[in-house]
Amino acid sequence: MLDVIDNTRSCTPWLSLDAVTFRYANGHEAISGIDLNLRPGIVGLLGPNGAGKSTLMRMLATLTVPTAGSIGWNGVDIAARPDALRRDLGYLPQEFGVYTALSAREFLRYMAAVKGLQHKHAAARVEECLHLVGLSDRANDRLGSMSGGMRQRVGIAQALLNDPTLVIVDEPTVGLDPEERMRFRNLLTDLAGERLVVLSTHIVSDVEASAATLALLAKGRLQFHDTPEVLIQRAQGRVWEWTTTAAHLGEVRSRHRVSASQRRPDGIRLRVVADRAPSADAEAVVPTLEDAYVNALDLAEVSA
Ligand code: ADP
Repeated sequence: MLDVIDNTRSCTPWLSLDAVTFRYANGHEAISGIDLNLRPGIVGLLGPNGAGKSTLMRMLATLTVPTAGSIGWNGVDIAARPDALRRDLGYLPQEFGVYTALSAREFLRYMAAVKGLQHKHAAARVEECLHLVGLSDRANDRLGSMSGGMRQRVGIAQALLNDPTLVIVDEPTVGLDPEERMRFRNLLTDLAGERLVVLSTHIVSDVEASAATLALLAKGRLQFHDTPEVLIQRAQGRVWEWTTTAAHLGEVRSRHRVSASQRRPDGIRLRVVADRAPSADAEAVVPTLEDAYVNALDLAEVSA
């Protein structure tokens, strides 16, 4: 049985990936030789659809094991000793919320039992977690009657039951409306504290305000791992803006990565990443994180 308070934990948890590779049974290599060291704080795992984020997240959550390389949790190889990580883990998978007939409280009590929380602590911990995610007054609502955003908060509450030091959330904002997404992001920021939170997403704004570091995946390879500021620095002098006509849009898109476009009375205002001015009237602009992400994907493609 797990006790909620575990004083034997090391103070600064760390997750280390050493040449981690995953090849599916059909031969497709979805993750290729990833080296990564992660420390507490929010880590945004960013990448386009198909980049390998879910494949990597499932390995971090010990649901699958790398086909080559190794993952360590506080120095312990998790393929050999998955329990070392599992007892510290809170996981919110992409697919969640099948228990539509249960209330939030019933579901959390059930999950507390599944996770092996000591019975004498479980009821109080469920109430604490409901409070942490701001759902104390909705505890008796059925999951089936809740909005997507509320269900995701219940998902976070279940991930927090064992007071995890490692929290893994896989594309948590999919299907949420903008207001719910913002609320969910704020919740994760509040909860991160001394925890290591790995959050995967293909939406830059999900991690823009909260991530201490960004790990960028493209085609199964790690392209970058550092602070958002460093990613932005890499895009300095490579982001351009100018106004063009709808007729030219296709041509521009075929040559350059467009990070934003906006219709205006005088044409279409484009933001593009390129190593030199893509048009005579293009001006260099200060990169945003979105531009920096698009730029990193562009550089990854060039070097592939
Ligand atoms: P992401 O989460 O970034 O969208 P995934 O990890 O789901 O990416 O997928 C990475 C790559 O692995 C994709 O090319 C995908 O088609 C492939 N893939 C995913 N699941 C399987 C599977 N069960 N068998 C073979 N290939 C898979």
